[in-house]
Formats: sequence, C-alpha cells, structure tokens
Amino acid sequence: MKTSAIIVAAGSGRRLGHDLPKAFVTLGGHPMLYYPLRALAAVKDVSEAVIALPAGTQSAARSLIESTGLDIPVKLTPGGAERQDSVRIALELVSAESDVVIVHDAARPFATADLFAACIRAAYAAGAAIAAIAVTDTLKQVDENAIVATARRAGLYRAQTPQAFRRELLVRAHREAVRNEIAATDDAELVERLGERVEIVEGSPLNFKITTSDDLALAQALIASHLPT
Ligand code: C5P
Repeated sequence: MKTSAIIVAAGSGRRLGHDLPKAFVTLGGHPMLYYPLRALAAVKDVSEAVIALPAGTQSAARSLIESTGLDIPVKLTPGGAERQDSVRIALELVSAESDVVIVHDAARPFATADLFAACIRAAYAAGAAIAAIAVTDTLKQVDENAIVATARRAGLYRAQTPQAFRRELLVRAHREAVRNEIAATDDAELVERLGERVEIVEGSPLNFKITTSDDLALAQALIASHLPT
C-alpha cells in the first residue's frame, strides 16, 4: 500500500498583509511551511510528497525540506490560480501506484503527525476521511448587518485539513470538477459531489488555518508558550 502527500502552499500573503507568500512567512523562527513538513516527516508509511509552491520559491523550499528531516522523494511544482487548481496540478504529479493521497494546507502549521496518520487510516478503511471539529458557536445568517436566520448547530462541523482519499476517487473528483466547472474550497466537497461517503476524523481547534494577521499573532503566541502543538 502506497500513500502520497500533497501540501498546498501556493497562496499569497495578501490577507495576512504580507509581501512574502504565506507559506514563507516566519512563525517561531521558521517559514510556516516548515511545520507541516516536519509533521509529515514523523508520519510512517508516506512514500512521497508533492508541494505546490508560489513562483520563484523552489530553491528556498528545497533547503527547507532538508532542514525538516523529511527523507522521502519530494516533487515541487508551481501552484495554480486557486487552491483547487494547486491540488489538481499536484495530483497530476502523484505516482500512479499510489493508493491513498492526503492533502494538507501549508497554512495549518499545527496539524500533528497523529492527525495525518488517523486520516490516512480512515481513508484506507472508508475511501475518504477529513479532519473536522464540531461547531460550538451558534451560527447566524446575516444580511446587511442583521440576522435573517439561525442555523441548527447539531451535526455541523468545521472542515479542516488533512483530508485523505483513495487516489482514484480524488482524481475522479477533480476531473468532474473541471468538466462541470465546479469551484470548491476543499477537496471533500468535490468527492461528496460524486455521491461518495466522506468520513470525519476528530480534528483540533489548534489546527486552525492562518488567514489574518490575528491568526498569525495567535500562532506566534502558541509557539512562544511551548504548548504542545
Ligand atoms: O487562501 P487559503 O489560506 O484559504 O489557502 C489554503 C491553502 O491553500 C494554503 O495553504 C495556501 O497556500 C494554498 N493555496 C494554494 N494555491 C492557491 C491558493 C491557496 O496552494 N492558489
């Protein structure tokens, strides 16, 4: 059984208010991309990785990979215009012998090796599995600054990455997305659209996505506090 990993790191730092691409913004003394690579290095039985990168960052990424101790073959590629394009481009470089592909956002630096392993195990067992956490806030639909509806919280989850899929399923999902011009913000949605079952693995509130400068400040504080992340 062969498992491949895709790390999507081709996003800009625009919403962070940074000139550097987000994956290369410094967090706790390392570029953000260091953390998912270090986690991946501790996951057993992943045989290759493909990383989608911003233009012009390949040599910086090579040195970074070396510093994480990740000792599997790693292919680098420029990403696409949207996250979904970056995943599709990376997926084309995944070995055809791979059974399961695990996709992760470089912008979630606190995903643990255990979470990667749990998603991979669940994908082998069920075909598709993503990290997610139950919604604990009450959700409001708002229009022009006023509430128009309250969503039922029961059964609602926040999707995270990693997300792991049988390779054949993920390839089919992306192919159908291109054919039907579907844009989704995660890969699970594309697989759900095929009518396939996607299971949930318990994620963590610490596995948040760094989007804004507040998220970055929170991440810096977590690292500075030496919390186990
Ligand atoms: O923009 P956002 O933070 O939601 O992106 C989620 C992940 O997708 C990030 O790790 C980002 O680097 C990646 N991404 C990408 N290619 C894009 C846009 C985002 O690889 N064109």
